[in-house]
This record gives sequence, C-alpha cells and structure tokens, in this order.
Amino acid sequence: MSKIVVVGGGTMGAGIAFVAAAAGFDVDLIEPDAAATDRAKQRIAKDAERAKKPDARARVQFYAALQTGVQADVAIEAVPERLELKREIFARMAQTFDSQTLLATNTSSLSVSEIAQDVPHPERVLGLHFFNPPAAMKLVEIVRADETGDEVIERARALVERMGKTGVLTADTPGFIVNRVARPFYLQAMRAYEAGVAPIDDLDRLARGAGFRMGPFELMDLIGMDVNLATTQSVYERTGEDRFEPVEAQQQLVAENRLGRKSGAGFYDYSQGVPARDDAAPQPPAGVNHDETLVVVGYAGLAVEMHDRLQQRYANVTLWEDEETLDEIGPETTIVFDVGDGANDRADVIEALDAQLPPETVIFVDAYATDMHALAKRLSHFERVVGYGILSTLEHQRVVEIVDSDDTSDESLELAQDLFETIGCGVALVEDRAGLFLGRTVGSVVNEAVYVVQEEIATPEDVDLAMRLGTNYPRGPIEWGQEIGGDRIARILRRLAAQDGEQFGPSRALWVLDVQSPEDVQQNEYDPFAGVSRNE
Ligand code: NAD
Repeated sequence: MSKIVVVGGGTMGAGIAFVAAAAGFDVDLIEPDAAATDRAKQRIAKDAERAKKPDARARVQFYAALQTGVQADVAIEAVPERLELKREIFARMAQTFDSQTLLATNTSSLSVSEIAQDVPHPERVLGLHFFNPPAAMKLVEIVRADETGDEVIERARALVERMGKTGVLTADTPGFIVNRVARPFYLQAMRAYEAGVAPIDDLDRLARGAGFRMGPFELMDLIGMDVNLATTQSVYERTGEDRFEPVEAQQQLVAENRLGRKSGAGFYDYSQGVPARDDAAPQPPAGVNHDETLVVVGYAGLAVEMHDRLQQRYANVTLWEDEETLDEIGPETTIVFDVGDGANDRADVIEALDAQLPPETVIFVDAYATDMHALAKRLSHFERVVGYGILSTLEHQRVVEIVDSDDTSDESLELAQDLFETIGCGVALVEDRAGLFLGRTVGSVVNEAVYVVQEEIATPEDVDLAMRLGTNYPRGPIEWGQEIGGDRIARILRRLAAQDGEQFGPSRALWVLDVQSPEDVQQNEYDPFAGVSRNE
C-alpha cells in the first residue's frame, strides 16, 4: 500500500500532494472548491515541470470529498487554520479510514492533541508540519501529540524519508521548534529597530553578514507582515510568555496594510521593485601600514584571529596574552584591541589602560560584554574608546558592529572603520543598546533554542537541523551558541534583561553550551543537557 490522502488543496495541500506523488505515492487530493481544485492542478503541474517529474501529475487524483473504502498509509489534513473545521475533518477521516491509517495535521499554530481530542485510536494521530513551499523545503516537523504511539512516530519518520524530506521530532507545543525558535529573530530585530539601534537596511546587512540568507526585515516583508504577526500572536497567546509579546512597530504596519512585498510596502518600499542590497566587501587599501603600533589583548579565539588578520596589513602587531603584564604596554602603542574573555565587563582593564596610555592611543572594547555607558563615566579619555561587536569569529561575521557613541570622537570612529575595512570587514554604526543588534538577536535565538531543549520539546540535534532546514540559518542555534559560548550569551542577555525587562534574560541552562566533554558532565553518554533542571 502506497497511498497518501491529502485533505485541502490550497497552498500547502497541493504542494504536499506533489511531493508525495513525486516520491512515487498514489495521492488522493480532497478539495471541495472547484476554483481551488483548478489552482491545485496548475500548481502541481508547475511543480512537476520544475522538478522534472512529469509522472507525478498522473499520480494525483482529485475529489470533492473523502472516498470510502480507500486504504491509505496516511491522511494529511491541510485545510484552513480553524480548530472547529480541523476537528470536523478529523472526525470524518477517522470514520473513513481504518485504524491502521495515520491521521496527520499540517497545522502550524494549533495543538495537535486538541484537534484530535475526540478521535478513536488517538495513538495514530500526529502532526506532519511541512514548510512552504513543500516542494522546495526539506524539513518536516513530526509532532508527537499526547497520545501518539511510538510505532506511529517510526512509521511517520519512514514516510517522511520516503517523500525525500528530513523529519525532526517535536513535542506538541506552541510553534513547535521552528516557529518558536525563530520568534526572537524577528521580535528582537524589531525591538532593536524601535530602540533606534540602526536603520533597517543596516540591521539586515548585519544579519546577512552573520550568515542569514535574508535579514529579519526583508524576510518579514517576504513572509507577509500579517502572517508573521499572526504566528507571533499565536505563540504569545498560547505560551503566555512576555518575551513573545508582539511589537508595536509591526502591529502598526499591519494596521496600515503595509504587509510587505504583497502589498507593495512593509518595512521597505517595493513600488520601484525590491531594493538593492549592498553587501560588497570593502576594498582595503593596498600595502602594509607602518604608522600604527597595535596590541591585541586576549588569548585564543578572536584575539588570535584578529592578531593574524591585522598582521597581514600592519607591520607592528603584538598579541598580548598575559593580563598580569598589561602595565608593560608602552606609550608608543597607538591602538589597543581588547578582546578579553567575552563574558565579563572589561571596565577595570580599560580604566587602567586609560590611565597608562597617552590620550591619542585608541582603545577597542567588546561592547557586548562591557557596559560602555558606565565605562564612559570612569575614564579621563573616553573619546578614544571604540565599542565593537563581534559575536565569535570574523570568519562567520562579515560585518562588524561599531558603537556610534556621542562620547567617542569622530577621529576614533573613523580609525575603527578604517581598521576593520583594512582587514576586509564591513562595518555598521549602531547605537549603544545592550547586545547591540547581533548580540541581542542571535543571543536570543540561541536562548530560545536552549529553552526548547531544556523543556524536552526536541533534542539539540533536531533543533539545529530544524533551524538550518526550516529557516536556512547558517548554523544550528545550539552549535552557534557553543561557538559563541554560553557564558558570553548569558552576559549579553543579562544586560538586555536589565535594559528591557526580565523576560529577555538568559535561560538557566545556557551554561551547558560551554560543556566541552563527557567528563565534564560525568555521564557515560555525552548529553550536554543531562542534569539540567527542567523546571525554572
Ligand atoms: P489555503 O487556504 O491555501 O488552503 C486551504 C484549502 O482547504 C483551501 O483550498 C480550501 O478550499 C480547502 N478546504 C476548506 N474546507 C475544506 C474541507 N472541508 N475539506 C477539504 N478542503 C477544504 O491554506 P494553506 O496555506 O494551504 O494552509 C493549510 C494548513 O497548512 C493550515 O493549517 C496552515 O496553518 C498550515 N500551514 C501553512 C503554511 C503556509 O505557509 N501557508 C505553512 C505550514 C503550514
């Protein structure tokens, strides 16, 4: 038996029907609306042509209602997102198919268990959450509802695989994995925008520089502001967590019908087409600089990377690993690039350097970890201090954030821009708010991913896979968090919480990102999340 029944032939239903047919299943597509049926036929034809699978079309049969006596592996419901309608469809599917047929819903925002509430044999009910467009998106979230059987999950995995997709297993919680972990990417980006961190095109450029295929604003415009807001609202209402509260700026856009590309304007204006991007890497000046004398303070990681990159363009660069001997940094030094440990405020060190070095020496400080505002009050020459934001490594960040502080001199800011451009990095000037832009957004995404693992919604591996395949993130958030460091993210989010509210603070489990080896957790089997309290 190799039959799949899809109920609802709209955007998702038609796409799922094509995917199944292309994988060799016979498909019955149930769509009562004649116009929708025509559109589904066209869509399937187009998908088949694009995928060079002409046979797929013939494997899809169209019906206006469920047919009795049909044997199917699975029936997938993809009707509009209304609980009562879905319940009705499930009741009918349960009557139509024998208890061996899996009954699945493609819901994005409803509870699978609630949809399945009155269905006989609830162990065969699950969610199969395909992504739009199904033909192109590799991911399917397999949702385990309250009563879904283990064997059903295994059968679902096999089916998803046969359809050429990658399945991840998730608990039946609001937003499942992808729509939940992605929320802070949008919400924190909009909060940064509301706080005046930088114009949206700079924020999008920063996000792309960090590896996202699209920045959050251009992406919301593509998804549709109303659709994006509805998902946020649903996750917010169902979880009751304040960190998911919708943002005023977006509600305003929806109220004004500025829904993004589809309405001609959203965060951007599309009346002249899609705005051009400017992601070109800077053209560094030729030659090697002999004028500056640089010291990079820090060890391993970014300090070594900065040192190595600077050495290619500057004749005099020293890596200063020993913090005990900073008082030996001589007055001939023109630039100090302080990396620190990434997780602690560097005010004490910078204050000492400020007292020791001539006022012309420019000092760079990690603005994710250090409170620049408090630092300014402690220094005699804050005008030579430049705050920068590099999450972990320049290899994974093409654009660096530079704090555009009123108290830093234009000369110092220009020097900072030149320095980064000389080593091939783009620069974006941002206002001094906790976490700047990338620390706030990426840090909050990692934090959400850790919550999802901590709450046993999904495994770390599945969270990473889901975000890479479901949203095209350059790295899974858990892996990314391990690269940045749990301590560093906790520091950033603690500062964010102090500024914007406790709801944005770090999960208590972030430390697990810093666990290096099985011995560290004293487990036979390496599980970085073992032993972590699941209850806040
Ligand atoms: P859609 O409006 O494009 O399609 C729904 C189709 O169901 C329509 O063609 C409608 O005529 C049909 N329908 C209505 N009542 C029916 C019935 N009683 N029997 C059979 N068909 C019926 O909606 P969509 O975007 O395809 O979404 C469908 C489901 O997929 C929703 O649960 C949605 O949350 C989920 N989903 C949507 C997306 C997306 O990006 N569009 C992504 C993932 C999941």
